[in-house]
Amino acid sequence: MSPGSHGGASCGACGAPAEPGVITCSFCGQIVAPEAAANAVHCPKCRTLNARGEKLCSHCHASLLLPCVFCQHASPCDLEACASCGEPFAGSLERKAARDAEQRRAQTWNTVGQVAGVAGSLLGALAGVSLGGSDEPPPRHHAPPARESGGFLQDLGGALAEIAGGSGSGGRSDDDKG
Ligand SMILES: [Zn+2]
Ligand SMILES: [Zn+2]
Ligand SMILES: [Zn+2]
Repeated sequence: MSPGSHGGASCGACGAPAEPGVITCSFCGQIVAPEAAANAVHCPKCRTLNARGEKLCSHCHASLLLPCVFCQHASPCDLEACASCGEPFAGSLERKAARDAEQRRAQTWNTVGQVAGVAGSLLGALAGVSLGGSDEPPPRHHAPPARESGGFLQDLGGALAEIAGGSGSGGRSDDDKG
């Protein structure tokens, strides 16, 4: 019996026997497995050290995996970036929101562009219809006949005067002779 020999690791602070796989003493919280602690994952809630690969905190049962907001891959929460897509976790929510807003804005602009295109073609069609309508009625055939008739009447008047003058002079000469 040797009181100084411990069967395994034990807490250096309180002497409690350390359970295998446990990094911190469950009684006083002292690190009992420094090698495992160097590779351990801090619980994001209670800061308890948990062995890497554990999914839940051994103390508060909080999730030790951080789901990526971009690819939904769950990475150990002590990583600085997603293990799958490499997106840094710091400010990932803000970046995701900004990208979503950007995408929404792009979609809105696409919609606006489509609407503007439709409206433009509609306006163009309307303008074409109104232009064609205004081009159609040419009220010209009223004016030329009036002018032609005036000329015709003038010519007729001239011819009548000539006939009247000719006959008048002839009649007068007849009167002078007789
Ligand atoms: Zn202890
Ligand atoms: Zn915890
Ligand atoms: Zn990711």
